[in-house]
Amino acid sequence: MILLDGKKTSADIKEEIALEVAELKRNEQKVPHLAAIIVGNNGASVTYVNAKVKACERVGFESTLIRLPENISEEDLLNEIEVLNVDNDIDGFIVQLPLPDHIDEQKVLMAVDPDKDVDGFHPTNVGKMALNLPTFISATPFGILELLERYNIETSGKNVVVIGRSHIVGSPMSILLSQKRKVGNATVTLTHSRTKNLSQITREADIIIAALGIPEFLKADMVKQDAVIIDVGITRLADASKKSGYRLVGDVAFNEVAEKASHITPVPGGVGPMTIAMLLKNTLLANKRRA
Ligand code: NAD
Repeated sequence: MILLDGKKTSADIKEEIALEVAELKRNEQKVPHLAAIIVGNNGASVTYVNAKVKACERVGFESTLIRLPENISEEDLLNEIEVLNVDNDIDGFIVQLPLPDHIDEQKVLMAVDPDKDVDGFHPTNVGKMALNLPTFISATPFGILELLERYNIETSGKNVVVIGRSHIVGSPMSILLSQKRKVGNATVTLTHSRTKNLSQITREADIIIAALGIPEFLKADMVKQDAVIIDVGITRLADASKKSGYRLVGDVAFNEVAEKASHITPVPGGVGPMTIAMLLKNTLLANKRRA
């Protein structure tokens, strides 16, 4: 079994990005600048957004974190977005999800200038992605493509089963892997909560991408021998033995599935770190495009 080490791979990618940033600096060109908006104090969201800002600093990007109160009105949030849209120094920005219930998430994502939408959530960018046109591919699916590529995992002609159809992971993943592209050309089955006989379907898969958010959902008896397993799930489970008071658990029953898998991502240290690295990659791309 080969562990798909997202921590190491993302460190390699960040190193490559840092070299490019150093080159920009040497040439006295503008370095990439990522801004992040976070609304409220959701623990996981604050952790994620802080990790993104820290990653920017490590590769030499400029970063701006905009913290807004939980009770901010939708109109005020849209105004903040407009400020970033027209700020020439900002190459790209993200609005950390989820947003409070009184704010229409779709409306907010639509307000982001597609050229600065480094999360790739704007319908214009989702449409381009679906048409296999150059765009910002959202960071989690982009990270999975990159991980598969860097570990030389063949996808062409393979049976891929994606579990979960969210707009940010499952759905784009299924589109990308079915496309005619370097990491693609797969026969993809997109499954979800209404799928019947899921185990029967997953047992046919050469590659399984689990993105449903149910801890240890995918068991060994749902997986064929030598399958490639990508675990996107991240659930915080209370754990008094940890300093933080919780541990992170994926959607795959790691120990039993690892015994059958040819390749598998751990949680943590698999897809999670790749997501941050690809956000940086998108920001660098935004910077290049604007230059
Ligand atoms: P979501 O929570 O929006 O949707 C879950 C999906 O799973 C739905 O499409 C649903 O139909 C499907 N589903 C639910 N129960 C199912 C079942 N029994 N069988 C088959 N399908 C079922 O999904 P999301 O936002 O993509 O998040 C999924 C998981 O991935 C979460 O744990 C989340 O924290 C994690 N995540 C991780 C990263 C990362 O960077 N690693 C990024 C995004 C999401």
